[in-house]
Amino acid sequence: MSPDKGHSFDAIVVGSGASGGWASKRLAEAGLKVALLEAGRPQSDKNFTEHKPAFELKYRNRAKEIVRKTRPIQVKFGVCNEYTYHWFVNDLEEPYTTPADKPFNWMGRLRMTGGRTNVWGRVSLRFSDWDFKSASLDGYGENWPLGYKDIEPYYDLVEKYVGITGSAEGLEHLPDGQFQPPVPLTCQETLFRNRVKEKLGRTIMPARSANLTRPINGRGPCHFCGPCERGCMTHSYFNSAFTTVADAVATGNCTLISNAMVYKVLMDSDRNRARGVLYIDRNTRRTREIYARTVILCAQSQESVRILLNSATPQYSSGLANSSGVLGHYLTAHVRSGGGSGEFPALGAKPSLGGPKKPLGIYIARFRNLPNTPPYKKFLRGYGYEGESSTEFNWEAPGFGEAYKKALLEPRTSIDITGFGEVLPRWDNFVDLDPSVKDIYGIPVLKIHMSDGENERAMIQDMGDSAGEMLEAAGARNIRTYARPSAPRWALHEAGIARMGADPKKSVLNQFQQTHDIKNVFVMDASCFSSNPCQNPTLTIMALCVRSCDYLVSELKRNAI
Ligand SMILES: Cc1cc2nc3c(=O)[nH]c(=O)nc-3n(C[C@H](O)[C@H](O)[C@H](O)COP(=O)(O)OP(=O)(O)OC[C@H]3O[C@@H](n4cnc5c(N)ncnc54)[C@H](O)[C@@H]3O)c2cc1C
Ligand code: SF4
Repeated sequence: MSPDKGHSFDAIVVGSGASGGWASKRLAEAGLKVALLEAGRPQSDKNFTEHKPAFELKYRNRAKEIVRKTRPIQVKFGVCNEYTYHWFVNDLEEPYTTPADKPFNWMGRLRMTGGRTNVWGRVSLRFSDWDFKSASLDGYGENWPLGYKDIEPYYDLVEKYVGITGSAEGLEHLPDGQFQPPVPLTCQETLFRNRVKEKLGRTIMPARSANLTRPINGRGPCHFCGPCERGCMTHSYFNSAFTTVADAVATGNCTLISNAMVYKVLMDSDRNRARGVLYIDRNTRRTREIYARTVILCAQSQESVRILLNSATPQYSSGLANSSGVLGHYLTAHVRSGGGSGEFPALGAKPSLGGPKKPLGIYIARFRNLPNTPPYKKFLRGYGYEGESSTEFNWEAPGFGEAYKKALLEPRTSIDITGFGEVLPRWDNFVDLDPSVKDIYGIPVLKIHMSDGENERAMIQDMGDSAGEMLEAAGARNIRTYARPSAPRWALHEAGIARMGADPKKSVLNQFQQTHDIKNVFVMDASCFSSNPCQNPTLTIMALCVRSCDYLVSELKRNAI
């Protein structure tokens, strides 16, 4: 074991994705010496393939089997494909386990600078007090230890830097933000929006998305080529790799250490303080130690909690900073297996194989259990929908020859919507260590225990029914709806397993994402969420992280950490 002698930092940040990028930027810009440890490889514009046609790939992006050989879990979500699969974790080398009767697809595990922000869907929505104080409103679970007013200035700050396109809608439960001009709706989306508003009073808007429509900080506006998940040479969508991490490194105060797989937090048990972390160099497989005044875990919910569980000491025998016993519990992740689609008139739209492609569609704001409406009887909380319209060739046209060629060109225009619903935090959805399995670095892996409850099942059914209701109200034809149980359970929005709270007996972190137990250990990713509202999480992850970094800096200044 070789310590990194001579490298003593103010802060170690573990993970360079949405949260770690912001933590390293904010702290480095405040003058702190930061070591940013990232398990993955460095990211570079040279790796981006958004303009590369499939016919230039060896297997034309059509051989899922090739990807499945090493990434049988990751390949289940389309963004892990022949273009990108080497950015993702090798599922065979870094496995996890589940009970036989509770399968869970832990997808979107990246091993590159930028983490999941390399491939994310970019939908960026604020939470409101209807989310932060939901327990007071319906009696379920715990309130967050902070409210909208506490986080509002940080939403402003993050949105201005990230660049969020969107429209102001004036909804109390989905607050407006600092938007760049929205990407206009298609004719079909406009028709859908107007008719649903008129007949059902529900709000459909252009998706609020981290794609630029105006240049900022040397990043160009989006030119609508489409596949953002393959990178972006003009840096027009938000990816930590070329924004926050690049800014952090440019200060001269942040050292990015790539291929550094953090195993555990090192403790000085006599002083109840973290000393640093122990990590494995993924290339050499050598174990190394690195030291700092503070340790900040930003490795994505399950990964950060895995590090805490692997850092158990005699004093914290069930996991570091786990005097409450809640570490690993209350795992939440959106349900999204209800929705529908329907056909709309083409209104002049023409199918094209190479035309411009809008990288974002529509968002339908939550309409169940809202301010000033009676509680919905079937379930607690609510859901929104993401969706988009598309105009395709008539691939199913009958016949052959000239007649077929003509029929093929008849446009088929449809709108597709998918619900994203809140999952209630429940004790029996949890992660712990699997004592019998280690990854190739010798680190014990996680066992994930998760299934849907009654509330989720009722919500999924309602997502399907309401999708049909709205498409019908808009006059769509050939409407298809679905409402499937979400098994195997999966999501890309996992949260809640080191939750924040005012009471140290019921939570792991305080409102500044500092562990109640150990003053110089912070967890700044979504594992802090006290509940997981239906809005996508990342904007809130970033805003909370910046707020906590400002707190950390002020506490360091007064030697309180
Ligand atoms: C396909 C997809 C679509 C998505 N769409 C949306 C969306 O539309 N809107 C939205 O809000 N969110 C979306 N998300 C979720 C969003 O990407 C995440 O919420 C966000 O990136 C989480 O940030 P994070 O910092 O916690 O983790 P990440 O961004 O995943 O970064 C974690 C980093 O930590 C590193 N790491 C992990 N373990 C270790 C370790 N032991 N040692 C060192 N480094 C480690 C990883 O390599 C990774 O780079 C999507 C995710 C995916 C995969
Ligand atoms: S669609 Fe826009 S943001 Fe996405 S890769 Fe193309 S230019 Fe970049």
